[in-house]
Amino acid sequence: MKSIEDLQVAGRRVLVRSDLNVPLESGAGGGAGAAGADGPSSPAEAVITDDGRIRASVPTIAKLAERGARVVVCAHLGRPKGGSYTERATGALSLRPVARRLGELLGRPVRFAGDVVGDQARDAAGALADGDVLVIENLRFEPAETSKDDAQRGAFAGKLAGLAGLYVGDGFGAVHRKHASVYDVPRRLPHAAGDLVLGEVAVLRRLTTNPDRPYAVVLGGAKPSDKLAVIGSLLDRADRLLIGGGMSYTFLKAQGYEVGNSLLEADQVPAVRALLAEAARRGVEVVLPVDIVAATGFDPAAAHEVVLATAIPPDREGLDMGPQTRRLFASKLADAKTVFWNGPLGVFEFPAFAAGTRALAEVISRMAGFTVVGGGDSAAAVRSFGLPPDAFSHISTGGGASLEFLEGRELPGLTALEES
Ligand code: ADP
Ligand code: MG
Repeated sequence: MKSIEDLQVAGRRVLVRSDLNVPLESGAGGGAGAAGADGPSSPAEAVITDDGRIRASVPTIAKLAERGARVVVCAHLGRPKGGSYTERATGALSLRPVARRLGELLGRPVRFAGDVVGDQARDAAGALADGDVLVIENLRFEPAETSKDDAQRGAFAGKLAGLAGLYVGDGFGAVHRKHASVYDVPRRLPHAAGDLVLGEVAVLRRLTTNPDRPYAVVLGGAKPSDKLAVIGSLLDRADRLLIGGGMSYTFLKAQGYEVGNSLLEADQVPAVRALLAEAARRGVEVVLPVDIVAATGFDPAAAHEVVLATAIPPDREGLDMGPQTRRLFASKLADAKTVFWNGPLGVFEFPAFAAGTRALAEVISRMAGFTVVGGGDSAAAVRSFGLPPDAFSHISTGGGASLEFLEGRELPGLTALEES
């Protein structure tokens, strides 16, 4: 893969695909209109609750601007609903507040175009001077961005590519998507990988080729169906798997226990059972929670108590791991030389149910080995606990992307960047 050092960018328009998909606290219906990104914030606009991904995107954009590129940044935000651009653009998913934050972090003005490949984007891109930075509107307002139809995606990619003469792929969190801005545009323009993508790939290579042992993987988060494939391939690589969070209930169910109202993917129980059997055959230790913080409902103020994982009352819902499990997980990590962690171990967004995730983050942050945290929510959790970013060897901006890499799958965005 080429890096941005290999591109002659001075005086040229460079389309940078970044991952600016930050968590938002919804404001109602912000984002219409055409004022600059540095204009006043409208009260209806969404508020960014964790700007980690914007911060991670700054170095590549700054470097290009400093080298005299005319930078056009494109990215997606959330999953806008609707069949047309107009419908999708009426929600609260404008990139405008993100562009404003990017400007603050870059310390230079950032312009904003209120469409993706329309008149505003074309005019604004054409008006850029050397070193200027422009953010265009949410790529996913254009239904073709994510279309499964190659021709439809390709037609849109042609218009996007028309905004610039060079392409830099730096949106690591999206490289596992075969989307127009990720896969089709780099096939149409001379391209390179941004520093963020190169850094992420270097870390993941270290996890997949000869990791120092013992190698422990901690997986949490909401749905086992998202992560069963990676667990399957991790049986080849990891020595120990610690399973927590919302997906641990499907594992407990697979072992024959009732889980009350806890998150359960009943249709995944047979697959989980097969996986547990395979792990046992290969001598990979699978560690499950032994106690649970069981609540009366999915609510930040819900009454709750600690129960054994094997005795969750029928009317309760597990929202965090209990203190015994915190100690158990810590002991299973004590001698590990490599740790990969993806997925919060409880509903950390509710302070009453954040203790398990916080305890694990603290344990890993004190470890001396190679420690990687991956996943949008996991990274946001780590930052919300105020742990210094250098407490981990690496905090990945990509959840799905890093998991698919670990699985050994081909990632369309990386494939496109590797082609010359
Ligand atoms: P990441 O973005 O780091 O890859 P996921 O998206 O897989 O992580 O999962 C994150 C979500 O999982 C969080 O929003 C968290 O609230 C949720 N979660 C964790 N534990 C539970 C639980 N016990 N019940 C319901 N949801 C849970
Ligand atoms: Mg997530």
